[in-house]
Amino acid sequence: MLTRAPLGAFLLAVVSAAIAQPRVDVVLVNGTVITVDDRNSVAQAIAIGDGKVVAVGASDEIRARAGAGTRVVDLAGKVVMPTLISTHVHPGFQKGVTYVAENYTRDTVLNDLNRALYFGISVVQSQGIERDDVLYRIRADQAAGTIGGAQVLVAGRGIGAPNAGPGAAAYAGIAYAITTEAEARVAVGELAANRVDIVKIWVDDRNGRAPQLSPMLYRAVIDAAHARDLRVNAHVFYHADAEGLVAAGIDGLVHMVRDVEMSDALVAEIVRRGVYVNANVSNPRRSTQSGLPHWLTTADPMLKLLTESVAPDEIAKIEASFRQRTAQAAEDARRSYAILERSLVKLSAAGAKLVLGADTGVEDHLFGMAEHLELEAMVDAGMTPAQVIVAATSRAAEYLQLEDRGSLVPGKRADLLVLDANPLDDIVNTRRIAQTFIGGVEIDRAALRAQIR
Ligand SMILES: [Zn+2]
Repeated sequence: MLTRAPLGAFLLAVVSAAIAQPRVDVVLVNGTVITVDDRNSVAQAIAIGDGKVVAVGASDEIRARAGAGTRVVDLAGKVVMPTLISTHVHPGFQKGVTYVAENYTRDTVLNDLNRALYFGISVVQSQGIERDDVLYRIRADQAAGTIGGAQVLVAGRGIGAPNAGPGAAAYAGIAYAITTEAEARVAVGELAANRVDIVKIWVDDRNGRAPQLSPMLYRAVIDAAHARDLRVNAHVFYHADAEGLVAAGIDGLVHMVRDVEMSDALVAEIVRRGVYVNANVSNPRRSTQSGLPHWLTTADPMLKLLTESVAPDEIAKIEASFRQRTAQAAEDARRSYAILERSLVKLSAAGAKLVLGADTGVEDHLFGMAEHLELEAMVDAGMTPAQVIVAATSRAAEYLQLEDRGSLVPGKRADLLVLDANPLDDIVNTRRIAQTFIGGVEIDRAALRAQIR
């Protein structure tokens, strides 16, 4: 009996050690791993098991975790970062060079989601221009694992005043048009029944063409949504509306204000209340450029991604939009664009919760392309690459309440990109994608490319 007890304890200890040592399927060693953890630490290597990050650390330490069946990837100096998370998209309207309501089908949406993934984006939040049940079905099929692409989160039909919802002709009739608090509550009730991921409202007079969603009505939407544990984010244009929305408890602003630079008081209130904000600068930035932008030249890795995944006539259409713009028109647009850049720098310096959102999917602002242009525009406005990477990964995951995404720390999902060069040195290096892992499994990027039309 005296000898058996210690032996039993010893066996128990061995078994416990085996249980505590998690399975390791893949190790990536000998590179740079941008973890986007709380301290923004950088490691050399990462171990993945069971779809999750097992460990990050020095190459020797991580290689030592490899077992007989572990795949060992020599990064040879390449850079690992979390996949991108894009919080403001509108899938389904662009098909080739056309942008019309009839394009909005399951196939068109899937094409957008596939191109997003090809460009390194693992999750997209649609922002309320969603007709019928197309996105709900895709969300369900993705959850069931029957289809891939970037994971789509839905907002259903957004809410605005009559005729004041989303602007383009292709969007007509999609948003709820409300005029009373009772209608606000009915709309939110329907959205809650559909288990939307977030509620979208438009608070804008569309350049004077439409009535505003009044404070009484947006408060009714926000209160009804919060009562059902749903968050609300707002399309906003005017400074005064942003002040009212923040005071009313809005959770996110999917644009900065565009009439004036944000005041110190508004910025402080956004920070104090923890409101998430999309910079959303890449779309208006297009108007500030005449002649071919650098990202449409072979010197920039963007053109390679576009050539691989977008039809030549569509690329030509985008090129033409820049070539046709006069220098004077670009100069004029730069004045209002400078307002956005100043507000963005202010928000960033004050510690506001900025998240990647580019109005992806508005005309000729394509899935994948828009996000990478947004990251670059944020850096050009004055943010550091490290800050912008946080906005596009961990902060965006926090905003979308995806607790298991957005950073490469043990226990999080192993959704990661392998890049040929370091985006901390130059943000456009997020476009130099060598490999993509989703849930620890490497995506066949060639097969994905073949699916995109
Ligand atoms: Zn939008």
